[in-house]
Amino acid sequence: MTTLQASKREQARQTLIAFAAAHQAVAVWDRLGEDFSTQWDQGVRDEMIRTVQAGRSEAISQADGYIDRALAEQGLAFAAAGGLTINTQRLLATTPDGRTLGGLLDNGIIKAKQAIAGGSGWHDALVGSRDFIASATSDTIRQTASDFVSIDATRRPGVGGYVRQLSVPSCRSCVALAGAFYRTNTGFQRHPKCDCIHVPVSDAAAAEPYLTDPKAYFNSLSRAQQDAVFGERDAQAIRDGANPVTVINKRARGQNKRSTNLTIDDIYTVAGDNRDRAITLLRENGYLSESGRVTLARTNRVDRRDLTDPRQLTSAERRAAAQ
Ligand SMILES: [Zn+2]
Repeated sequence: MTTLQASKREQARQTLIAFAAAHQAVAVWDRLGEDFSTQWDQGVRDEMIRTVQAGRSEAISQADGYIDRALAEQGLAFAAAGGLTINTQRLLATTPDGRTLGGLLDNGIIKAKQAIAGGSGWHDALVGSRDFIASATSDTIRQTASDFVSIDATRRPGVGGYVRQLSVPSCRSCVALAGAFYRTNTGFQRHPKCDCIHVPVSDAAAAEPYLTDPKAYFNSLSRAQQDAVFGERDAQAIRDGANPVTVINKRARGQNKRSTNLTIDDIYTVAGDNRDRAITLLRENGYLSESGRVTLARTNRVDRRDLTDPRQLTSAERRAAAQ
């Protein structure tokens, strides 16, 4: 099995961006005290939103050009069709699953209140929400980068599909998925804390060297890693000869959804194998538009707006978000 340097580097950088932002988000969270509910509404929530949005912008900047780098290493170059441009502001306007970012982060406060209702002191209750804040931050950032790469692949007709690159030794549920080639229009399945990335290729034959053999992957892990990743029982079953793919539960895919505010995952579910349909849906939902250049997120400037609040968007962004 071959690994592209570009993919290795991309995975490491994206991990670092998500990790750093999660760390910052927890530091913001830790400013809360006994009066956390008021403090949250009077500035901490906004600060947290800015922290996560800055991380997402950075992840997008890092992901922008990744496909070119991964293709170049394979001696390939595939341009976007018809000057299709990725609207990064649209990506940033909601969470990857279509919620407001503030609404997602509010769950940290809700969990803390539930803990207090269950008898915890305020300090323990706040500490108890730290993990949620950290994983909500890093998962949102990773999914944003992944969505950007999915869109970027879709707008390039030369990119026939992708292979999933695992990061050793995590992602039990992804091992089976990493053994197969996926067409570009197949949504990139991602579970909480998943750090897998796309490896873009031209077609199924070109994907061959980058596929992970699940059994070889399993054997490459130490016994302790095998137990940690697969669980002791399943790991033992595989050591006893069971096929890892049958042991691994694949995540159920979403049902067909019809909506004017589709997430990237929804779009690929609805479009199936039809790239034109995916492009149409990406355009209808504001993720792609026709103009010469990629609209890059501004990373060096802190955007003081809450991009999840429609009132703070420009009219063009609002239109894109509302479509
Ligand atoms: Zn994964």
